[in-house]
Amino acid sequence: MKAIVARETGPPSVMTWTDMEPPRPAPDECVVKVEACGACMHEVLVRRGDRAQGTGFPIIPGHEVVGEVVEIGAAVVDFAVGDRVVANQRQRVCGKCRECRTGRETRCPRKVFLGDIGLNGGYAELVAVSDGSLVKVPPGITSPHVAIASCAIGTQLNALRDVAHLEIGETVLVTGAGGGVGLHAIQLAKASGARVVAQTTSPEKVEAVRQAGADEILLVERGADYSKDVMEATAGRGCDIVLENVGAASFLSSIKTVALHGRLVLVGEVQKVPPPVEVDLVGWRGRDITIHSAASTTRRQLEDVLTLIERGLVTPVVTDTLPMSEAARAHEILESGSATGRILLVPDTAA
Ligand SMILES: [Zn+2]
Ligand SMILES: [Zn+2]
Repeated sequence: MKAIVARETGPPSVMTWTDMEPPRPAPDECVVKVEACGACMHEVLVRRGDRAQGTGFPIIPGHEVVGEVVEIGAAVVDFAVGDRVVANQRQRVCGKCRECRTGRETRCPRKVFLGDIGLNGGYAELVAVSDGSLVKVPPGITSPHVAIASCAIGTQLNALRDVAHLEIGETVLVTGAGGGVGLHAIQLAKASGARVVAQTTSPEKVEAVRQAGADEILLVERGADYSKDVMEATAGRGCDIVLENVGAASFLSSIKTVALHGRLVLVGEVQKVPPPVEVDLVGWRGRDITIHSAASTTRRQLEDVLTLIERGLVTPVVTDTLPMSEAARAHEILESGSATGRILLVPDTAA
């Protein structure tokens, strides 16, 4: 098979389209013929060697996979050859530890992420994924855009519904609203009956933010304090939920906008060592707010995202589709920060 292989950290050009041995399935694995794989900022960090948990080269990057099962291991019972499946970012979780047993498998200490360490990622014609990390795609979903369901949509469902416990009628601030995750957060919040205030620093992304359903759009200078704008947009009350998709650069503005009894959920922060942030403890305590973080997606959350897509309540936003051999160009687009929505890679035979 062909795959994108990076043998060392470096610029996008370290990724080359290479002939590889096809993967053989372990007893609990399915070999998936890749229909599409999302290109995600996560892989840019891995490629640069900026992933906080380290990397193990050589790698085949990629964790946002949709495709067809073409071979199953001897112990697989829930999937058959011909099933169309989405991978849940990880090659496997252990299924036995405390985290796995309590619906928090995203924190399984023995999880193996696709594309971080070794030759197991989805920038390839074939990828082997354990049956515990796959979900069948409902027949009503035919678009390859479903590849991004887990990373770009499931993470935000995790944050909004299962961490922040969004209630109908609440107000949600989405920062980094024009990016690949922000646009889906807006859609999810609207589908949940929330009012959405969206913050973006990119004039060229405003239209996409509007189309995603934002009620108020705040176009602010990069690095500027936008808390006053949010307070104005909410009649001085602030937001019940602040979904912080940017991180240190906007955290201090964001925390000032959390309403009484509100929740801030940190989702984004791509710097390996972000600058420390100073928080006003008096303001924090005076409003009884809570601060959370959310990462990744459980299999249940991925199943729920697929249901939402099938019902038309959420639509994956993909703005570029490139042949897999041009993965380097996809990374250049990601690093420029210019992408509105997500980028898909498709095997060259399908491009
Ligand atoms: Zn991703
Ligand atoms: Zn586990």
